[in-house]
Amino acid sequence: MTKELNVKNLYRLPWNLADNSISWLEPTSKCNLYCDGCYRENRVNSHKTLDEIAHELDVFEKYRRTDGVSIAGGEPLLHPDICEIVRMVRQKGWKPVINTNAITLTEELLKKLVEAGVDGFTFHIDSGQQRPNWKGKNEIELNELRLQIANMLHKIGKGKLSCSFNLTVYPENIHYIPQLTQFAQEHFDKIHVMVFILYRMGIINGLHDTFVGNKQVYWDELSYTKEIDDRRVNINSFEAVEEMRKLYPDFMPCAFLNGTEDAGSMKWLLTGRLGNKYQIFGYVGQKFMEIVQTTKHLTTGSYLAYSKTKWLKRGRLYFLLAPFDKGIRTIMKNYFKSLFTNPKAFFSRIRFQSIMIIQPADVYDNGRINMCDGCPDISVWNDKLVWSCRMEEQMRWGDNVNLVPRK
Ligand code: SF4
Repeated sequence: MTKELNVKNLYRLPWNLADNSISWLEPTSKCNLYCDGCYRENRVNSHKTLDEIAHELDVFEKYRRTDGVSIAGGEPLLHPDICEIVRMVRQKGWKPVINTNAITLTEELLKKLVEAGVDGFTFHIDSGQQRPNWKGKNEIELNELRLQIANMLHKIGKGKLSCSFNLTVYPENIHYIPQLTQFAQEHFDKIHVMVFILYRMGIINGLHDTFVGNKQVYWDELSYTKEIDDRRVNINSFEAVEEMRKLYPDFMPCAFLNGTEDAGSMKWLLTGRLGNKYQIFGYVGQKFMEIVQTTKHLTTGSYLAYSKTKWLKRGRLYFLLAPFDKGIRTIMKNYFKSLFTNPKAFFSRIRFQSIMIIQPADVYDNGRINMCDGCPDISVWNDKLVWSCRMEEQMRWGDNVNLVPRK
């Protein structure tokens, strides 16, 4: 089966501005950590009122279908009303998923969030964080912390909470991608999603002038720009997959979001695998994901973001889609082979796990900025739907900047 990543072999996710799977809510931009490459300025007095948050949810409801809402920031757990915010999202009929660094997540708070109706968590943990008690630890050493948190979630949430880990991929930690994916395989029962976000930084290299409308502005004020950065700021998804295939040679994504400037760029690259800690039987194909997304939309009116964990542990059920999907047929072949080659894997539960690679904004010399077409992380600013990764521009100038190449 070909492993080329292109529009023929992958399903283009149907997510768009008005009909998506996720939306992005920021109750605060205050944070208790500094992450290298963070695109939100840390503002101490920035907690939104519940009325402001209710209004933002109304704007989402008016303009955008969604399945889940990522409650992010800053650090959302610092907001004193985080439980009420979760309740408000749940009352809208959406899945509240908290994007957090987990520094202040205790069992007690977790119990309250479960009561409020939280659906899952995306934990941001990586070596670029200056995290107290974990400074200088590499990605493998940080697995101890990731497992502590996954165990707490599993215990308090009784296996019903979706558990994702995301990390920023820098040139200096990209080589850990395969091992981190292996770590997720070893804890297949507790970790449902791994998200690798490629490092981006706007380098002020003198090539462009920046304007908002016809007014010149200076984007060196922004948290995601720098005079210089001797590291690469343009690692792409193809490289991340290449890295992954060093340990998982058959690794094959099933779906993607392209770029707004470059249709061949893989801005969101989604992979689904079936297996257990003993063996990965294979990767679901594009038809599988098309059936999942369209069936979810037909039956509930929105595309799928986060699956209920009960469906993720019924891997053999997915075999029913074998007539439609090449990936599932390969998985079944490997599964039945394992009866003889790896009986432990054959008789163990089969689970589904997702791996997402995200390639944020690419700045081109011609001044064009390649955003994610069908951006799932859309947020609200002044009653408008905006890219959350470029919210600082909205906050400063009320609109996104345009880069104009200097003569
Ligand atoms: S456009 Fe920006 S906010 Fe949207 S998904 Fe891409 S990186 Fe995230």
